[in-house]
Amino acid sequence: MGNPHVLVLPLPAQGHVIPAMELAQCLAKHGIKITVANPDFIHNLVVKALETKADTGNSIRLVSFPVDGFEDIFMSMPRKVKEFIEQVNTSSSDSHDDDKITCVVADDVLAWAMEIAAELGIKRVSFCSFAATLLASVSSIPKLIEDGIIGHDGTPTKEQMVQLSPSMPAMNTSDLLWVRRGIWEYENVFFEYALRKNKSMNLADWVLCNSAYCLEPAAFGLNPKILPIGPILASNRSENSTGSFWPEDMTCLKWLDQQATKSVIYVAFGSITLFDQTQFNEFAMALELSNRPFLWVLRPDIADKLDNACIKGFQARVGARGRIISWAPQQKVLEHPSIACFLSHCGWNSTVESLSNGVPLLCWPFVGDQFHNENYICNFWKVGLGFKRDDERGIITREEIKSRVEELLGNEMYKTNAVNLKKQVVSSIKEGGSSYNNFKSFVEWLEV
Ligand code: UDP
Repeated sequence: MGNPHVLVLPLPAQGHVIPAMELAQCLAKHGIKITVANPDFIHNLVVKALETKADTGNSIRLVSFPVDGFEDIFMSMPRKVKEFIEQVNTSSSDSHDDDKITCVVADDVLAWAMEIAAELGIKRVSFCSFAATLLASVSSIPKLIEDGIIGHDGTPTKEQMVQLSPSMPAMNTSDLLWVRRGIWEYENVFFEYALRKNKSMNLADWVLCNSAYCLEPAAFGLNPKILPIGPILASNRSENSTGSFWPEDMTCLKWLDQQATKSVIYVAFGSITLFDQTQFNEFAMALELSNRPFLWVLRPDIADKLDNACIKGFQARVGARGRIISWAPQQKVLEHPSIACFLSHCGWNSTVESLSNGVPLLCWPFVGDQFHNENYICNFWKVGLGFKRDDERGIITREEIKSRVEELLGNEMYKTNAVNLKKQVVSSIKEGGSSYNNFKSFVEWLEV
């Protein structure tokens, strides 16, 4: 075969675009020709944020499709992508310029991409930026229905603990991927996606996951088609992460340089998590009472809905001890020696970024897979602590947050476990490690 040309299709959400762009960078580094296609509203954000970075001018080609909102990625985008591949492949045949798209690598939520690639007779790879365990739970849907644990619409028949495999920690049925719908409570599209995922996993030649055997050994046993190649982080390439939608505030790294080793609480809840004024007050008061330095990412879409005078008053009281920023270079922050712990919403990327750096976590999950990740953090890897919710008020109180911070930072076990897990994670991506080898085999397969 001629030179491979891979079309990468991320799901248009921040937590999916960052790892997909990283995968694209890793492939480009191996000399593979890469085109990344995003809906126009995402493409514009990525291109703008990339302009602020110096070291991203490599060979990746970025293209966009006009799309009418998020839902349209399941309606008109499949046709546009198919036409794009056909057009590239026809014109490269006509001109003999060896530009043919030979493989589609698509986020596993974009199940339609596997169908299109199969129709066009080109290689197809599904890329999962969730935990492999969740992908494996999708393969267990028929069995869960047969055992009466969930109904045909995916709803658990009752809340109970289930074990998908004997070597896996039990999970609450309310934490199944398609059950925790959070702000999308009214929709059951998650279950429909899960069913389509199953179909597309069968169609895919490879199912790659941004995880490692050492993190979720049982999941890979449950569905051997799922292969870990991660964690794929820009630091593995000694470069900056790409795919951010917003400019990163690099000045926080200088501020971190001035803090004592392992002293700073890093607080960030990913790209979509929301909280209101009451919960903001509790977080703020807990950080104020903790008397420790902290770096807090408060996205503008959250900050704009809060009482500005309240934020200003808080900042004035904590002074130089605390730093609030709009968007962090998170991977670099978590690598910084002054970080003591990460108060996180437990998105999968945030989780693996923390584990890769041996940083213990405090868990405030919000939606979807984050509850499942919290379960692994607290009960399987034992590298973090969750919070007890004040059910009457529907919040986590300042006293609870403060006391968990003290408990986490006062107990060496969490630090030791996190450091030990980091060693395993890092060796899986080093030459000869399991993720390294899987990725190498994948590149070789692309080249034949
Ligand atoms: N992130 C970042 N800066 C921030 C907050 C988050 O670069 O201030 C990145 C983070 O490193 C991660 C992604 O955004 O790669 C968030 O993904 P995750 O799966 O943790 O959460 P989601 O946004 O999907 O809920």
